[in-house]
Amino acid sequence: MSRCSRVSRLLLALAGLVVAVEVGGAPAQTPGAENSTIGYVDLHVDLPYQHNYKQVSLTRGTGQFPAALAKKGGLSAVVFPLFVPFKVSSQGPRLSDFEQSWQNMERSLNAQSTYAHPGTEPAAGQIRTFYSFEGMGPLGNDLPGLALWVRRGVRLFGLVHNQHNALAASSMDPKREDFGLTALGRQVVARVYELGAIVDISHASDRSAADILKIAKSLGRPVVASHSNARHLMEHQRNLSDELLDSVAGTGGVIGVNFHSAFLVSGRRATIDDVVAQVLYIARRVGFEHVAIGSDFEGGIRPPRALQTLGEVQHLVPALRAAGVTDTQVRGILGGNALRILMPSDQSPESPGR
Ligand SMILES: [Zn+2]
Repeated sequence: MSRCSRVSRLLLALAGLVVAVEVGGAPAQTPGAENSTIGYVDLHVDLPYQHNYKQVSLTRGTGQFPAALAKKGGLSAVVFPLFVPFKVSSQGPRLSDFEQSWQNMERSLNAQSTYAHPGTEPAAGQIRTFYSFEGMGPLGNDLPGLALWVRRGVRLFGLVHNQHNALAASSMDPKREDFGLTALGRQVVARVYELGAIVDISHASDRSAADILKIAKSLGRPVVASHSNARHLMEHQRNLSDELLDSVAGTGGVIGVNFHSAFLVSGRRATIDDVVAQVLYIARRVGFEHVAIGSDFEGGIRPPRALQTLGEVQHLVPALRAAGVTDTQVRGILGGNALRILMPSDQSPESPGR
């Protein structure tokens, strides 16, 4: 595909995203804004975990992300992590567990119409979806198999979750020192970028993240932190140092702001203002075009009261505007920035990295 058609395809996608959609029965807030929502793209919603391991309905969720509220929330696109819990077996996640999780998701996606299949063009009225991994240790033993996962719609590859694995050290595993990426982990990162997909550093240790960023930078490819906040405002290993924020932005990537109270504040429940503070801190440090949303809904989070469900995400719009964020910047934060990264710039794995 030519560069020209790629650009026009992206522009079309972005235009589609910012088209205002009707919200039935929403209370009027400001003149002219009462009948519109801003397209919302979420980099991390744990519905597959709830569905595959907790017998929760894919379309109802636990109540945080019900498909029935997609329109009210302005949902345009969502990333579904194919997460396998560590306790699934005595050795942790196995290749067969990933396969089963994927098969179960595909079956359930076939039985509903809200969500398009990951990586496919949505039909009219459907929501665009992608898969991701958060923890993919056993997949490192099958490097040629990664191409199949990309074809299945996996767009973001997070090498590690809360336990160190064969690919990388985790931000949350106290068992061993931070050893960064392993030799196999380096091969996985290189292969993911060769396949035109993107590496996600959320859950990676500081050293693993720095190792990933170095490789991505050398290849001229973006890195995403799908659901992590700035450590400057909340000291937590899952959050990112200023140096890592700078590096992610330096690759052209995005940081998805997480709604979980424990990653926003300490000793109390977070408020929507704490989410806005994260957005503003990251944006002022590295640029508004590098801020996105990675709510972590359905991942056992305790969100602010004003952001308890998908249906309340639009509450961020007046909150951001009140903080002086322009409409263009709000559209980027809620969806445009994430979509810029998620939409493949070219289908061909042989295309030069940009
Ligand atoms: Zn996570």
